[in-house]
Amino acid sequence: MKRKIIMAMLLCFTFSVVVGCAEKREEAQNLLNKYADANLHEMTTFAMDTVMLFTLYHEDGEEILTDAEQEIRRLESLFSVTIEDSEISKLNAHSGLDSVKLSGDTEEVLKRGKEIGELTNQAFDIAISPVVKAWGFTTDGEKHVPTQETLENLLPLTSIEDLVIDENASMAKLTKKGMAVDLGGIAKGYASDKIASLLKEKGVTSGLFSLGGNIGAIGTKPNGENWNVAIENPLNANDYVGLLSIQDCFVITSGGYQRYFEENGKRYHHIIDSNTGYPADKGLLSVTIISKDGAKADGLSTALFVMGLDQAVQLWRSSNDFEAVFITEDGRVIATEGAASFFSFEGRDNDFKYEIVKRRGGVQ
Ligand code: AMP
Ligand code: MG
Repeated sequence: MKRKIIMAMLLCFTFSVVVGCAEKREEAQNLLNKYADANLHEMTTFAMDTVMLFTLYHEDGEEILTDAEQEIRRLESLFSVTIEDSEISKLNAHSGLDSVKLSGDTEEVLKRGKEIGELTNQAFDIAISPVVKAWGFTTDGEKHVPTQETLENLLPLTSIEDLVIDENASMAKLTKKGMAVDLGGIAKGYASDKIASLLKEKGVTSGLFSLGGNIGAIGTKPNGENWNVAIENPLNANDYVGLLSIQDCFVITSGGYQRYFEENGKRYHHIIDSNTGYPADKGLLSVTIISKDGAKADGLSTALFVMGLDQAVQLWRSSNDFEAVFITEDGRVIATEGAASFFSFEGRDNDFKYEIVKRRGGVQ
């Protein structure tokens, strides 16, 4: 049954993550019918090193999708570290030397990155780039475990305090030579915010997009029902542990299963703990954040993965602008109280256990 539903959903949206999923076959059929809707427009593109998929309902959908793609490319040309004359590449190239002029979006994304860094005690660290590179995660080169000496030399270059932003002059500087910014943990979330705003400004009231698995929902489905977004089983890409029934928000997941390599039989993933220089190892397989703020959802999904469950729950309890679903290495799927109200757990068949964490202490 589960497999049939997945097939129907993939037919509907051809999304790599399972979106718009229906619990009953009739509902899947309704979605298939909507596929014939003249206002339905879809686009797939490759940008920011990932596959992006858009589905929206609007009579001017084609033009709107072209505008959305242009916006993504504009942001990519500012933020990419593989584009030599991007503003972030220039900032990195001038580390330890001088300040670099920033356009509004680059200044904003850097400010958001620093702010999330401060909120999470630097579990989120956009200055982690030298260490990420030492592992080979941002280069085309071979991925490998760096020596302890390499990590010890690089860790002093990863403090976000050494990224100084001059808001009056719209300039930024990396104060130590060899520092570099990596927006891999926030750029897609920030872009999600911009795309959602653009689509809404153009009059879109129903749409769903995925920027490499970072989901943005505009309004509801055309029939007024919520969108259903699946949370992937980190141990099996063809399976999911449950569905989030959402409207008008972002759903962003980070997990060590998304990018990794193996050396001497041990797995090393791409989310680095800036305390150790090693891949974060706090007992989590994935963290999904649900929020109205895409940049925050992206930054926090990475940060909470680094922090581990206890600290992550503490941060959630002291915040009011996001909900989360955690999957732990010991087989638990844990939803925050708010998330539990729109999450249906379906991981029992795969031996996951379900828990809900309450705002005022306690686990259910
Ligand atoms: P995400 O997929 O959003 O969790 O982001 C992971 C990407 O963010 C990695 O591929 C790195 O480019 C970068 N990154 C790795 N560790 C961190 C960290 N502790 N803080 C911020 N960005 C990180
Ligand atoms: Mg992130």
